[in-house]
Amino acid sequence: MTTPIDPLDQLKGQIIRLYADVATVQVGDAPVECAIRGKLFKADPPAVGDYVALEESGEGYVISGLLPRKSALTRRAAGSTVKSQVLMANIDQVMLVFAAANPPITPAKIDRFLVVAEANRLQAQIIVNKMDLAVGPVEAEIRSLFRPYEQADYEVHYASVRTGEGLEEVRQGLVGKVSVLVGPSGVGKSSLLNALYPGLDLKVGQVSEAYGKGRHTTVGGYLINLPGGAQVADTAGLREIGLWMVPPEELPYCFPEFQPYLGECRFNDCAHLTEPGCAILEALNQGKIDLSRHESYTKLRAEAVETFPRW
Ligand code: GDP
Ligand code: ZN
Repeated sequence: MTTPIDPLDQLKGQIIRLYADVATVQVGDAPVECAIRGKLFKADPPAVGDYVALEESGEGYVISGLLPRKSALTRRAAGSTVKSQVLMANIDQVMLVFAAANPPITPAKIDRFLVVAEANRLQAQIIVNKMDLAVGPVEAEIRSLFRPYEQADYEVHYASVRTGEGLEEVRQGLVGKVSVLVGPSGVGKSSLLNALYPGLDLKVGQVSEAYGKGRHTTVGGYLINLPGGAQVADTAGLREIGLWMVPPEELPYCFPEFQPYLGECRFNDCAHLTEPGCAILEALNQGKIDLSRHESYTKLRAEAVETFPRW
């Protein structure tokens, strides 16, 4: 026999860690391990960062409901089937981390990450880590690679975990917000967090130890409450970013420096590729829009045209 639950009595919390069949939910000060009621979430599975309602079930708790999301970071699910997946919920901003060297950066990679952030209506900041490796003329090269982004009004933080350069600036950028750190693997995301918050590695270790080594696989990364009022999300699973659900017509809005020219083209349905009287191409010719940014736009548009579902 089940007792009806008064919604006002329902326990609520935030998912800080997600495994295949189990979530860690922060309820007040206590992390609680909860099962996920399977059929509830077939259509809309919970993600790290989600606020959820809990119900008692036998010995423990089960997640029984999902509270409305303020924001969501989505990607196309890996594999061939075209499906979207919410990676993180209730995120304020994306911190894109790249390395000055090792692994090398390409504008195409930067733009792909930025477009995903913009398409999800998330603010984005850029961290260029490993600046200690940018010696001599390489430093100027790196800074000029990121100049178009500064001109497009993105904050770019140059940093090095090795030397400590820029770390305070990065910390200030995190305070009071829920940030998700994304970027290629090996750029130093974990190193940055450990350098900013000494002792964090210990906490992360403790959390994973509580759930039996290797028994569960994290699927959605995790959310960490940091001293000084910052929350940081880590998405271990963010390997392949797709442009799922970005209609090709919306793509120009994902490039902030295109905004002043949108609506100025001769044709209403201008794709800003080769059309006569295109205000974006005009701005490009005048050097007001960076060539590599427009190249990325062209490539990503082709991809969006291919993947956006035609109803
Ligand atoms: P993640 O995959 O993005 O989390 O990257 P990690 O934090 O695991 O770092 C990858 C490698 O880069 C490690 O060997 C780090 O020691 C190294 N690394 C991290 N930050 C720096 C840095 O500022 N300078 C240099 N030279 N190496 C760094
Ligand atoms: Zn145009």
